[in-house]
Amino acid sequence: MPNILDGKKLAQEIELILKQTIESGLKACKRPPGLAVIRVGNDPASGVYVSYKEKACHRVGVRSFSHHLKEDISEKELIEIIKVLNLDQNVDGILLQLPLPPHLDESILLGSIAPDKDADGLHPLNLGKLIKGEKGPRSCTPAGVMALLERNKIKIEGKKAVVVGRSILVGKPMALMLESANATVTVAHSKTEDLPSLTRQADLLVVAAGKPHLIGGIHVKENSVVIDVGIHRLPCDKNDLSGSKKFKLCGDVKTLEIEDKVASFSPVPGGVGPMTVTMLLANTVDRWQEHCGLPLTISHLLP
Ligand code: NAD
Repeated sequence: MPNILDGKKLAQEIELILKQTIESGLKACKRPPGLAVIRVGNDPASGVYVSYKEKACHRVGVRSFSHHLKEDISEKELIEIIKVLNLDQNVDGILLQLPLPPHLDESILLGSIAPDKDADGLHPLNLGKLIKGEKGPRSCTPAGVMALLERNKIKIEGKKAVVVGRSILVGKPMALMLESANATVTVAHSKTEDLPSLTRQADLLVVAAGKPHLIGGIHVKENSVVIDVGIHRLPCDKNDLSGSKKFKLCGDVKTLEIEDKVASFSPVPGGVGPMTVTMLLANTVDRWQEHCGLPLTISHLLP
């Protein structure tokens, strides 16, 4: 059986470090770290993710400031709210939950968050820092993948890595982080021809295509490491005649086809998902330490 990369367990371990870091820093700082979470409209999946994030804040001692805004808010109004949060001394991190309604320009809004309160690491300045290998808030999902690899002592240097997906949220920063860790990285995307022959070369395959069950046995190399970033809520078994509208979570990878072939893989659920939330907290606590003039003791958690 392959080694399961357990994100839930690692997330709990890192949360404990963050909780202790906050407790000891409170003596000098006198206020807890603050994370403002902005949600626009009523997208149900966003509602679930925001509630996970707020619960996680509560567990470690980060104060969360919730801003649930109406679907038809104008870009100008939203920028004004972000500007107020940029100046709020109790707020160390600002998260704009994506996706946004189509009338709002994601890039303008992410760019209006103060770079040193960018809890999701998606501000252009912080993406630039990532390219240059400078410290800064990091995109949470790829940062979570790096932590998972490191914790499981998976060698990256010199390995061939393939990242499937080139979004700003996951694929691109993932490729940059792996390259910084000295992997030789190839990025595949929706126009890539003959995906299986490319992914079969990968010692380390990270899949973030957002396509349920895209990757199967024919895509993976024997004894490789596979990280499944995709998350999909699919209706349960069609044979379930109970009429219930139950859902199950699955990823971009057909687990049953790869599990006897690979050396390690991250499951869905319980792999990358919990790590994403934890790295959001890590970015926020790191910003808090900086804003309070405390020693930056957890920046090693951010790749
Ligand atoms: P996206 O739609 O922005 O990007 C998907 C990328 O995959 C694109 O670059 C596209 O070119 C590529 N792609 C699509 N179909 C492909 C194919 N057939 N072959 C090769 N490449 C293909 O999505 P995203 O925001 O990057 O998210 C990707 C997945 O990761 C989604 O399922 C999302 O829900 C999930 N996600 C999970 C977490 C987490 O915490 N686990 C966080 C963020 C995103």
